[in-house]
Amino acid sequence: MELTITEFVLWVLLGSAAAVLACALASRWLHRRAEHRGRMRRVVCRMCLHAFEDSSRDEVVKCPACGIPTGRGNA
Ligand SMILES: [Zn+2]
Repeated sequence: MELTITEFVLWVLLGSAAAVLACALASRWLHRRAEHRGRMRRVVCRMCLHAFEDSSRDEVVKCPACGIPTGRGNA
């Protein structure tokens, strides 16, 4: 089978469209994952409402502003 120039151009266009779509989906997925991780790290103190990030996996973290232990995921 021999490719005509029209078919070739069509395939290139289809290929680049698919590549752009794949890149868009991948970047969206990565962005959403990073956002989710950021939300998991974010803690808001229930006493002073100080918002901070904690990278540990502890259920209860100490607020750096007032020192009160605060549960994760209540914000
Ligand atoms: Zn606090």
